[in-house]
Amino acid sequence: MPPVLLLFDIDGTLLTSGGAGEKALRTGLLSRFGIQDDLQGIEIAGRTDSGIARRILERHQIPPAPENIRRLLDGYLEALPTLLPLHSGRVLHGVLPLLNALRQRSDCILGLLTGNLEQGARLKLAHYGLHDRFQLGAYADDHHDRNALVPFALRRAAALAGTDIPPARTWVIGDTPYDVECARAGGARAAAVATGVFSSSALAAAQPDLLLPDLGQTDRILELLLPPP
Ligand SMILES: [Mg+2]
Repeated sequence: MPPVLLLFDIDGTLLTSGGAGEKALRTGLLSRFGIQDDLQGIEIAGRTDSGIARRILERHQIPPAPENIRRLLDGYLEALPTLLPLHSGRVLHGVLPLLNALRQRSDCILGLLTGNLEQGARLKLAHYGLHDRFQLGAYADDHHDRNALVPFALRRAAALAGTDIPPARTWVIGDTPYDVECARAGGARAAAVATGVFSSSALAAAQPDLLLPDLGQTDRILELLLPPP
């Protein structure tokens, strides 16, 4: 049997950066384009950094060409390491015990599926001591549309495992309806966790396969995500 692939979202699922990510975007916009914007009305949760950058540029009538997106995101990545320690973020409830328990299991692969850029993901996870927990990832560098990311993760998991992982043995675990949508688009199963900005009822409307208040209750989550040993 191929292993089960678990793909975790980062912000609102594993951790909250306490607003450092958003502040870094605002700082990048100011340093690279000289524009002040509080980003009110720009949807951030569940979106990819490249998609968010595109929307910010469009709002300021700057063509969302690859070089402009890159410039804004370079400013974001430059600001992020300084801003992370200045904001009171944290690893979310239940995440560490769950990751510790999953590490003991040989029947799963731990990955990321995130709207972060790979470097941004690395910076956030390293700041919160989670950087060595994941074997692969799919990121905003791969595609600006989150719904296109599952196949990237599946290819990397197949290379790692030496065998194809069926999408039906893949879970996307995230805190927004967009994570659920992205699981559906990739043929994967969706576990929604109400630790971000979306309520349980908002997540239920997206019809995930599994809806959890948080990632506490390690044993129950292991039973739900992984087949019996
Ligand atoms: Mg999220």
